[in-house]
Amino acid sequence: MNSRKKIIVLGATGSIGTSALDIARHYPERFEVVAVSAHRNEAQLRAISDEFGSRRFALSGRDGAQAIDAMIRECEADIVVNGIAGASGLSPSIAALESGKDLALANKETIVMAGSLIRKLAEKRGRKILPVDSEHSAVFSLIESQGKENVAEIVLTASGGPFRTWSNERLREAKPEDALKHPTWNMGAKITIDSASLANKGLEVIEACRLFDVPPERVKVVVHPQSLVHSFVRTVDGVLYAQISPPDMRHPILSALSWPERVPNYLEELAFDRICTMHFEPPRYSDFPLLGLAYRAAGLSGKYTIAYNAANEVAVAAFLDRRLSFPGIAATVADTLDGDWSGEPQSHEEIILADAMAREKAEAAIKGHNE
Ligand code: NDP
Ligand code: MG
Repeated sequence: MNSRKKIIVLGATGSIGTSALDIARHYPERFEVVAVSAHRNEAQLRAISDEFGSRRFALSGRDGAQAIDAMIRECEADIVVNGIAGASGLSPSIAALESGKDLALANKETIVMAGSLIRKLAEKRGRKILPVDSEHSAVFSLIESQGKENVAEIVLTASGGPFRTWSNERLREAKPEDALKHPTWNMGAKITIDSASLANKGLEVIEACRLFDVPPERVKVVVHPQSLVHSFVRTVDGVLYAQISPPDMRHPILSALSWPERVPNYLEELAFDRICTMHFEPPRYSDFPLLGLAYRAAGLSGKYTIAYNAANEVAVAAFLDRRLSFPGIAATVADTLDGDWSGEPQSHEEIILADAMAREKAEAAIKGHNE
């Protein structure tokens, strides 16, 4: 077959990147990895590049963030997998769409910070944004099969993280090593902390609103500790449709890379040859305030979602450095959101500026908490 899809894998040394490369390894007749990036891990990146015979690689920690953008723009490819962690993923997403490539998007920060700009850009260039975040991948395919006009509500599932059953008192003493023990998913450090605080679900509520163009009232969250149902949609006639598979990010990455086709699966499937329990419960909003704060930000236009994301990134770094308590993460985000973030950002530059201002305000709030 000479119609192999040419793919660029950003964040190739991370959790998402490793899963994307595993797929490329299993379907050499379908996918060709033409370029890869990492931040500092040069040895691993070189090994990946050698294994896949990719023509280019970029190391942003050594050569600057623009090295990734330049590689994307100069490389001929069909689709870019964005598995970069954090706000640094935004600029490469823009570079991918601007240079006419589809975007398989794990980097949710891209949508949280710049949802409307990114969607307009994709439309203008006639390119697709294919969500990799497991919940949004599920919703994307459920909307495709049910028809957007028939979908009344999106219900995102949340594992609940390692602190699902912790009391409020115990949460005050939670340490980074407790938060890093995720019960079902094996992911990078930042998103693992976010799963423990429900900030990850908060970011995903914003992501769903911006990606599927629905108001926050039509996005619900349900805690489902087994992480088997990746999300639901409720159709106007009141029926729930679920997408179900074992928790393995290679499923949504494979869907994004092979869209609009579906390819024969090599991954573990959910078999009903033993007892399978699925449990659902409402989130504990008052003990995990970052979820409610995200709903508030999602409902406001302007730069509130940028501030939410930036403040949370700063606060998580401080928590990992043991400069901030676990409840301090939510307090920092709440303090930062208290500023005036009105006014829709008109450009990438304005988004970057709002992100920097929010980081400053969050750092000041952390200092305040510690005094
Ligand atoms: P990891 O921390 O495992 O990997 C991050 C990758 O990005 C690494 O390759 C790292 O390179 C690179 N990187 C780190 N900092 C920068 C930077 N400043 N500029 C460019 N590249 C950088 O993260 P995950 O794979 O867990 O997450 C990646 C994204 O996917 C996040 O946005 C996350 O929210 C999202 N996501 C992840 C899921 C998961 O299961 N892991 C599930 C759903 C979404 P190096 O190794 O050199 O540091
Ligand atoms: Mg997710």
